[in-house]
Amino acid sequence: MAVTESVTGETFGGAPGAHEVILRRQSARESRARTYARALPIVPVRARGLTIEGADGRRYLDCLSGAGALVLGHNHPVVLEAIRKVLDSGAPLSVLDLATPVKDAFITELFRTLPPGLAGRARVQFCGPAGTDAVEAAFKLVRAATGRTGILAFTGAYHGMTAGALAASGGAGDVRVARLPYPQDYRCPFGVGGPQGAELAARWTESLLDDPKSGVPQPAGMILEPVQGEGGVLPAPDDWLRRMRRLTADRSIPLIADEVQTGVGRTGAFWAVEHSGVTPDVMVLSKAIGGSLPLAVVVYCDDLDVWEPGAHAGTFRGNQLAMAAGTATLAHVRENALADRARLLGTRMLSQLRRLQNDFACVGDVRGRGLMIGVELVDPEKERRPRGEATPAPGSVSDSRPGSVSRLGSGFCSSGAGSGGDGVARSGPHPAAPDLAAAVQRACLERGLIVELGGRHAGVVRLLPPLTITDEQAAAVMDRLADAVAAVARDPAAHGVRPRQPDGLKDPAD
Ligand code: PMP
Repeated sequence: MAVTESVTGETFGGAPGAHEVILRRQSARESRARTYARALPIVPVRARGLTIEGADGRRYLDCLSGAGALVLGHNHPVVLEAIRKVLDSGAPLSVLDLATPVKDAFITELFRTLPPGLAGRARVQFCGPAGTDAVEAAFKLVRAATGRTGILAFTGAYHGMTAGALAASGGAGDVRVARLPYPQDYRCPFGVGGPQGAELAARWTESLLDDPKSGVPQPAGMILEPVQGEGGVLPAPDDWLRRMRRLTADRSIPLIADEVQTGVGRTGAFWAVEHSGVTPDVMVLSKAIGGSLPLAVVVYCDDLDVWEPGAHAGTFRGNQLAMAAGTATLAHVRENALADRARLLGTRMLSQLRRLQNDFACVGDVRGRGLMIGVELVDPEKERRPRGEATPAPGSVSDSRPGSVSRLGSGFCSSGAGSGGDGVARSGPHPAAPDLAAAVQRACLERGLIVELGGRHAGVVRLLPPLTITDEQAAAVMDRLADAVAAVARDPAAHGVRPRQPDGLKDPAD
């Protein structure tokens, strides 16, 4: 076993139990609010590409990728080279919002990638370094530009943890938010899914905006994710997105696309809005644009550039290492057509996961776009939700939503439980099974695979591999995930899943 030196100078690998010591110290000293560390008790000491090596000497395939930030995986050579070049040049590392050659190159590369409708008229504001900072900046900008205050946001949205972003995500916050239905097939709030469900969601939004008694005053902006990530990997149908663009444009409401997670090739296009051809007024970007280092920006149409000098300031807006790493990442994704690679590989992985869905009743739905993939775990022993409406003809769901393979809408139901075979659904999906999803996550970890959980009830196993993942690595990820699902499905109790509650007792997932 290799001896590994940590950043604190302690050695691992040779010292048995060193990683347990660190984990124990972590739980004694860090906040109860820690998140990933609870489900993933690993102590990374080395990483390259898809692989992380823990202090215990174990290796893992990392499909969490820094919550989607690492589109080139860990420590990609072009990123390391860009960082070293800045370090060796003697350039200042932190410069507030002063102009530098490093920043100039970053903006040039960023503007080169932007949707054409925005690129020619774009302004960029460097804000605090997290995605949530860019969301706050975007809200502040559209409020200043419109003189209005409220924000339109969607069910299941995730925009960050600061007050405004949290409010837009459905938490307590200080922004007045009107919540609109985000279309989804598997758990369609209207019980229909497919294009019909998306149409009803759009109509609801339209009527709310046009009804003078809807209780929603003319808003300052609408924010949406082109694919909801934390909400459970829900790709917005392209038609629906175009409809939101028309609705907002016709009413002079700035449309804010939150591409913090979907950007830089992740969904099979450089920016996810490109799938629908929509040009937003504002884009909030973070995660991958910093090439694994903290960086966030808000990019917007020049007609919204109403801020007075100093209207949105902050100390850490000039991280030169992040800008250099970001430039290298954006250029590498563009030059190597990694968005195309994500689209092709994502399609292949989804079709492999469909087989898993056919084999195991607890795999309720498989969906995604590009390399943003979700597998929803359900409890097949619990009663299905009533549905009762006709579903779209088989195939039409994936027609409108690339990558969506909803069991009810697209005929992938092995047991025929969801559809009577005549396109009429008898009942809706089974309830989410967060305990099964957590068990699959643990079983994956035991097999050396790191996956993320998401979704409304944390019932969705999420894969966000780097776009550089090889075919062989993708096959290994699929094998390990399939093996983990099979093991949990065969014997849930052995994987820490509590026996189901007797009827009448409410489960938290209900
Ligand atoms: N928006 C989206 C779509 C996100 O997925 C996230 C983070 N997962 C954020 C905003 C917030 O980013 P950060 O955690 O960097 O504040």
